[in-house]
Amino acid sequence: MECVVGGGAGRFAAAMAVAPRPRWRARRARGHAPFRRRRACGVVRAGGARSSDGCVAVREGFADEEDYVKAGGSELCFVEMQQGKAMDDQSRIADKLPPISLGNDPLDLVVIGCGPAGLALAAESAKLGLTVGLIGPDLPFTNNYGVWEDEFKDLGLAKCIEHVWKDTIVYLDDSKPILIGRAYGRVSRHLLHEELLDRCVKSGVSFLSSKVESIFEAVDGYSLVACEHNVVIPCRLATVASGAASGKLLQYEVGGPRVSVQTAYGVEVEVENHPYDPNLMVFMDYRDYIKQEIPCSEAHSPTFLYAMPMSSTRVFFEETCLASKDAMPFDVLKEKLMLRLETLGVRITKTYEEEWSYIPVGGSLPNTEQKNLAYGAAASMVHPATGYSVVRSLSEAPNYASAIANILKAGQVKGTHAYKRSNGNISMQAWNTLWPLERKRQRAFFLFGLALILQLDIEGIRTFFHTFFRLPRWMWQGFLGSTLSSADLVLFAFYMFVIAPNDLRMGLVRHLLSDPTGATMIRTYLTI
Ligand SMILES: Cc1cc2nc3c(=O)[nH]c(=O)nc-3n(C[C@H](O)[C@H](O)[C@H](O)COP(=O)(O)OP(=O)(O)OC[C@H]3O[C@@H](n4cnc5c(N)ncnc54)[C@H](O)[C@@H]3O)c2cc1C
Repeated sequence: MECVVGGGAGRFAAAMAVAPRPRWRARRARGHAPFRRRRACGVVRAGGARSSDGCVAVREGFADEEDYVKAGGSELCFVEMQQGKAMDDQSRIADKLPPISLGNDPLDLVVIGCGPAGLALAAESAKLGLTVGLIGPDLPFTNNYGVWEDEFKDLGLAKCIEHVWKDTIVYLDDSKPILIGRAYGRVSRHLLHEELLDRCVKSGVSFLSSKVESIFEAVDGYSLVACEHNVVIPCRLATVASGAASGKLLQYEVGGPRVSVQTAYGVEVEVENHPYDPNLMVFMDYRDYIKQEIPCSEAHSPTFLYAMPMSSTRVFFEETCLASKDAMPFDVLKEKLMLRLETLGVRITKTYEEEWSYIPVGGSLPNTEQKNLAYGAAASMVHPATGYSVVRSLSEAPNYASAIANILKAGQVKGTHAYKRSNGNISMQAWNTLWPLERKRQRAFFLFGLALILQLDIEGIRTFFHTFFRLPRWMWQGFLGSTLSSADLVLFAFYMFVIAPNDLRMGLVRHLLSDPTGATMIRTYLTI
């Protein structure tokens, strides 16, 4: 096998020849139905060729069934359309960052993936003096991100918000709506991409536009990042930030909960009129405006409308299924949205953009004993009950970067061989920074909540949120903003239990006693 490598070509070529496959064991596949063609979506694919048989997964492209589900499963072609959107106003990374130079000394750190998590971590790590290479396809940000305005302000990113609503509203049924009392912002994909890229430029990150195929370890302890076209980049540590479907590059815990999926179909449109106040962002509208039943078994899970009214005639509408064991298909969500708008008397006169939002939620944590690190959605940092991760990835980047810098500094003092010997444990320090016991407890609680939500029908969801919004304001605001500690979450659960109507109370007890996430939560809370 011929390969292009940097820093002592013979040594790395030899390693490549003996270790072409990742050395960790593939994760046992659990739970999901076997790979199969579920539906045809008949869309034009990125290459322009019409796929006559729709969403057909190529099994070889994924580590296992869970990885296939995380990548998009039966909705893969829509996920690809979302990722492949042209965004002409965003800079190409290669035009701003210098190329990773082959043939030099190994880099301190390679960050794999150029999403918000990868860009933020690369910039923060290079700021600390590490030599950092970023590797990933040179793609723009295509997702519409929504954030609590105060959270983005705290990150110094207020300038990347393109529209702010002074308050956020929730409709559960035809009773009085609930005002959340918190401003919400729509992130400018263009400005966020430019800002994170600028941070990389200023801190001296270098770049290679390529997909990583595997990471393996050379005999002297360096990590070898194998990319397309047989290019291999040596480094002291590699961090995988290549999104949720990173099973080819990372090992995940075995026996954890099965991944669920939040799907949402959105449209940004010009309309003749709409019923929403342009000063308020509609976080959830669970009112059931659909008179006509959609004759499809997958349509029964509850969905809500998420709406960003930019003006009295321009709106971003998104029909959202908060979580489902099998992703609610985009064509069902689209049908539900169009029926809802029709019933509301909203007439679309122009469509600016469609969005296919596919967010895997829950699932296992990465195995924290592996040498390679992870960040962002790859590191299971997506909030299981809300699907959000961007603010967490941006806010934790400086702290995680310093943990990585400390590891590398310890390795330098001890020398390469000592570094190699103690590597496993040393990486664990970084893993513990990302997933300390406190975070694991919070996650166990959210996974318990996610499993509960998955069982609820529309009436159950309404009862749940009616109770939720009767909690003290700091509690439900803290839950939505992910600021509650694991102890706060216990208080949250007790409070919910006390004020809940009897049917929800019984449901909570049943769920705690019978669902495996209940036992896991108790075990994680009791771990010292
Ligand atoms: C439409 C949509 C809307 C969303 N809205 C929100 C929101 O409002 N708020 C929020 O917090 N979250 C939101 N999410 C969820 C989640 O936070 C985002 O998916 C977020 O982009 C995850 O960031 P990330 O950097 O971890 O991964 P990604 O953004 O998925 O980035 C991963 C990068 O890795 C690259 N890559 C993949 N494989 C490889 C490989 N083998 N080698 C090298 N590079 C590779 C990809 O090309 C990509 O650039 C949304 C998701 C979607 C799909």
